[in-house]
Amino acid sequence: MSEREGLAPACVDVLIAGAGPAGAELARLLAEAGTSVLLVDPLTDLRRAAFSSAALPLAAVEHFGLPASVVASQWSRWLLLGPGLQRREWSSSQQQPLGAVLDFGSLRQWLADQAVAAGVQVQLGWRAERMEPVAEGIRTQLRSVTGERRWVQSQWLVDATGQQRALLGDPSPAHGPLVRGVGVEWLLQVDPEQWQPWADRLSFLMGSTWVPQGYGWVFPMQPGVLKLGVCRLLDPDRSQPALNPLLAGLLQRLGLSQAQVLDRHGGLIRSTVRRREPHQRGRLLGLGDAVSTANLLGGEGIRHAMASSRVLAPLLLKALQGSPLALRRYPRALRRTLGWRWTLSGRLARRTWLGLRDARADHRLEQLLTGLHSQASAEDLSALLFHYRFERYGLRVLPYLLGWH
Ligand SMILES: Cc1cc2nc3c(=O)[nH]c(=O)nc-3n(C[C@H](O)[C@H](O)[C@H](O)COP(=O)(O)OP(=O)(O)OC[C@H]3O[C@@H](n4cnc5c(N)ncnc54)[C@H](O)[C@@H]3O)c2cc1C
Repeated sequence: MSEREGLAPACVDVLIAGAGPAGAELARLLAEAGTSVLLVDPLTDLRRAAFSSAALPLAAVEHFGLPASVVASQWSRWLLLGPGLQRREWSSSQQQPLGAVLDFGSLRQWLADQAVAAGVQVQLGWRAERMEPVAEGIRTQLRSVTGERRWVQSQWLVDATGQQRALLGDPSPAHGPLVRGVGVEWLLQVDPEQWQPWADRLSFLMGSTWVPQGYGWVFPMQPGVLKLGVCRLLDPDRSQPALNPLLAGLLQRLGLSQAQVLDRHGGLIRSTVRRREPHQRGRLLGLGDAVSTANLLGGEGIRHAMASSRVLAPLLLKALQGSPLALRRYPRALRRTLGWRWTLSGRLARRTWLGLRDARADHRLEQLLTGLHSQASAEDLSALLFHYRFERYGLRVLPYLLGWH
């Protein structure tokens, strides 16, 4: 274990709750600038409970300097199955990698190791329970997995607890509804000949006969290991079938029912579409999924969570140097970093996924995919799905996605 063992200090500059990609990245950035940081997480082993599928575009892997040790596989192709029996594939020019599938547990561990190397104190097996303002700071009660309790005082407290928003709480409805997606994923051990057809590509299962109101996926990990998952937006107006039987059905349909299931995991993605919720309450700041950086279109948020750390770090350093008003710029700076397409993609996600529940919607999707297959390259598809560049397809794609067709 690379984390420094020992008791939490009673007093630090910044306490960060949550050692996910957002919290660990912020901790490292602050410590490198000389700040004393305590990072806590209820997980006792960051390699476990690796709930995320962790597919990323290559640009993000390079931008955040992620090492080969956290990359489970690379991919250079897109494969879309559906609607129905349709199969369409896009390959990058000269088979150049377009992205990676990370081992999410290894990513978390590597980020925590980087933070420790920069001087962060990491306390695993501890959760932040509640906090109260004190003169010149904030006091937070931590609780260990064994039930022990302790108070820590800090100048600033960061809620990086992901979609749980354990300290900030859910935004009020006045800030827009929290759109919720639920995902379940199984890690499969398969024979080499079963693994090969899924290697080097991100494969998605689309259309109401595969996953109503959502989509499925098969991502390659290291040779012999696949991730099979389904994700769906929660529709308050409809009862929806349970995801685990749906996943078992996909296993059969894809001829993978002999596979050994190594792990079953999943989780929620919850974001407001407009991201207008408060990012700060007194000495408490929100980060990553806790302030809706997860994107609902592709169920994707690792790089956005880490981007939020890079936006917050310099502002928080200014606050620590005596200019707390610098933090007022945080929500707007983060919105600017995510870009206007981020908000648009959230709207499109709601319409696209919630609407995908019958033959009519399948037909519209079919038309869209036929157009994309004949005109778009694999790189174009990445630009569309990872960089939300819908306007490139202008009048054809936007009206479809916005539900005007
Ligand atoms: C099924 C599924 C598939 C996904 N697939 C992808 C994908 O392919 N690509 C992608 O980019 N994103 C994907 N995501 C989303 C991505 O995983 C998240 O957006 C990202 O992990 C958010 O990072 P974060 O640091 O904000 O929060 P998290 O990663 O959720 O980290 C929050 C941390 O806070 C800890 N915590 C919780 N409560 C407390 C507390 N009270 N005190 C202290 N710590 C606490 C948790 O243990 C956790 O470690 C997926 C999500 C799901 C659910």
